[in-house]
Amino acid sequence: MKLICVNCNRELPPDMFDYQCSCGGLFDIIHDTSQLDADLLKRTFHERLSERMSPYASGVWRYKELIFPELPDEFITTKYEGNTGLYGSELLESYTGIHKIWLKAQSENPSGSFKDNGMTVAVSHGRSLGYDRFTCTSTGNTSSSLAMYASLAQASSYVFVPNKNISLNKVLQTIAYGAKVISFNGTYDDGIQFYERHSKELGFYICNSINPFRIEGQKSIIYEIAQYLNWSLPDWIIIPGGALSNVSALGKGLRDLKNLGFIDKLPRVALVQAEGARPFHKMFASGSSELSPEPSPYTRASALNIGNPPSWRKALRTLEETNGVTCSVTDDEIFNAKAIVDKSGIGCEPASAATVAGLKKLISQNVIDKDETAVCILTGNLLKDTDALNYYHFTNPQNAEYSNQILTAELTLEGIESYL
Ligand SMILES: *Cc1c(COP(=O)(O)O)cnc(C)c1O
Repeated sequence: MKLICVNCNRELPPDMFDYQCSCGGLFDIIHDTSQLDADLLKRTFHERLSERMSPYASGVWRYKELIFPELPDEFITTKYEGNTGLYGSELLESYTGIHKIWLKAQSENPSGSFKDNGMTVAVSHGRSLGYDRFTCTSTGNTSSSLAMYASLAQASSYVFVPNKNISLNKVLQTIAYGAKVISFNGTYDDGIQFYERHSKELGFYICNSINPFRIEGQKSIIYEIAQYLNWSLPDWIIIPGGALSNVSALGKGLRDLKNLGFIDKLPRVALVQAEGARPFHKMFASGSSELSPEPSPYTRASALNIGNPPSWRKALRTLEETNGVTCSVTDDEIFNAKAIVDKSGIGCEPASAATVAGLKKLISQNVIDKDETAVCILTGNLLKDTDALNYYHFTNPQNAEYSNQILTAELTLEGIESYL
């Protein structure tokens, strides 16, 4: 395993670990896969589907050979993350207009978001280096996930949260798992800058998405989709973008599958951002290759509320390699799409529904053909943001096309029959 800077290609000496290169670029983990036998691996991954109570029962560590082969099993901190459902939905096919859709419900992870796929690997790596203090700054889901794994590992977690535009549910979940939560006046980006400067003095292992081990873990999402579909992928993968770690991991995972010969052809990737926080979409749509940060991002999809996404260079590679596209959607489009995802029985938090809203938009613009097939990655759980549910269904803003009301009735046969 080697760490190479995605910006200047510098390679770190093998016994060193760092999050960021002296040039400011992020590190990418490169594995030597020349000794791997693809058929044997496929068989191994298949056999591990029947594991219970071992690290290989996890939907991340099932693919350990492609994620972190060197790690001794004793350091693995797992909650059998991954193993999430891949669902079809006629309701969502008719809502978006596509012929065939699957929803990959990363919302079913133990802490309720896809962050678990990466966090299990980062915390396990930190433990292997001897750390017992873990940190992140977060819009919510990263912190819940970190707090959960740190507690499982009997270590401490220190979580920096901006004091505005975050979901209360996520902070409560983080507190409940036992993290020390530090609320500060500033943005997500300020938090990252602070501990990039001070983490060494404080003895902190950093678990934000600048950590390349998070990206390695998140690759398992696309491995799992490919394995469930018998190593064939749909025409499109639709993914939301905030800090852009997930789209970076998606591209890296696809590259692995293609290089190993597990799949013949890469699907195209569509990255969807919220209109109020779309610096990457702006860059990509204008053909520029330098990202201009958005100084005051705002979207009600709190997990997408990021103006200066650290992983943009890795994300750009995913889009270039897959002949990908980007788009942005309004909060109203996100909330209406979310109402349909929820009503389908699958459910998700607002940021995840950006994928469905984006798919609908890209079909209406003829970028995606309705005869094609797509997987939308649902990143977080419906219960992650109950304020959003309250806002949509009860405080009843004008654009809540699919809001559902509580019915009031006399408990009489006629009273109830009038609602049937
Ligand atoms: C973190 C997160 C995102 C954004 O993923 P990035 O890797 O930051 O682009 C989207 N949805 C949910 C629910 C998240 O928790």
